[in-house]
Amino acid sequence: MQVDVLTLFPGMFQGEKGPMNESMMWKAQDRGLMALRVHDIRDYSRDKHRSVDDTPYGGGGGMVLRPDVLVDAIETVRGPDTSVPVILMSPQGRRFSHAVAVELAAHERLLLVCGHYEGVDERVRELVITDEISIGDYVLTGGELAAMVVIDAVTRHIPGVLGAEGAEQRDSHADGLLEGPHYTRPALYRGLGVPDVLQNGNHAQIERWRRLQAIRRTWRQRPDLLMTAQLSEDEQYELARLADEDARRR
Ligand code: SAH
Repeated sequence: MQVDVLTLFPGMFQGEKGPMNESMMWKAQDRGLMALRVHDIRDYSRDKHRSVDDTPYGGGGGMVLRPDVLVDAIETVRGPDTSVPVILMSPQGRRFSHAVAVELAAHERLLLVCGHYEGVDERVRELVITDEISIGDYVLTGGELAAMVVIDAVTRHIPGVLGAEGAEQRDSHADGLLEGPHYTRPALYRGLGVPDVLQNGNHAQIERWRRLQAIRRTWRQRPDLLMTAQLSEDEQYELARLADEDARRR
């Protein structure tokens, strides 16, 4: 997958020890599974001051990214292929989630546009933006951190990026549930042990235990997710039992 990012602060993506060049993001690029290209919007400005923004019509303060500069930058980077998703990072976009990450991972190319200051001229949205994504209901000072969140979450779903076979299918949100607890050595720490079932080597039993723990954790921490999770009859029964137990404790 090729990911192009348009930003006023390319250095935020390029730091040798930055989030895009460490750990799994580095590996994904090193193995040629994801190619990240960062473009400086300022390279597309038309005057000698390299200006990219201007004051808003109607007043009110702040600065707005100019449509001529930004549309030119987007069209040049995107090229003639109009099927490439051109995604504006924006607190007004559709909410980013596991499902959106999986959806975006199916594309061969993505183009992410990072706004800054007050945002971008409305005509950019009308002319070239095909999708708008928000990473949550709060406002950041710029789209760069949001773009990095999206790139990280999407890259995990490119086949070959994560090593452990199938481990990501158990991760929180993949099947509509939160993942249950993990344990590693030492077996006894400050008087706290590790559940026996994890140490007996019975894989069917371990899977069942993990699934029940996931349901339990989701019920206690994010019950809203259970509205849409797919549960077997046994699991629904287990959930009812849990709800009953909690109700009695109250
Ligand atoms: N005035 C705008 C906010 C601009 S914030 C408004 O009220 O809607 C500046 C830039 O930060 C935006 O253009 C966008 O690219 C980015 N940004 C801010 N919050 C974001 C969020 N929750 N998700 C994704 N991008 C965000």
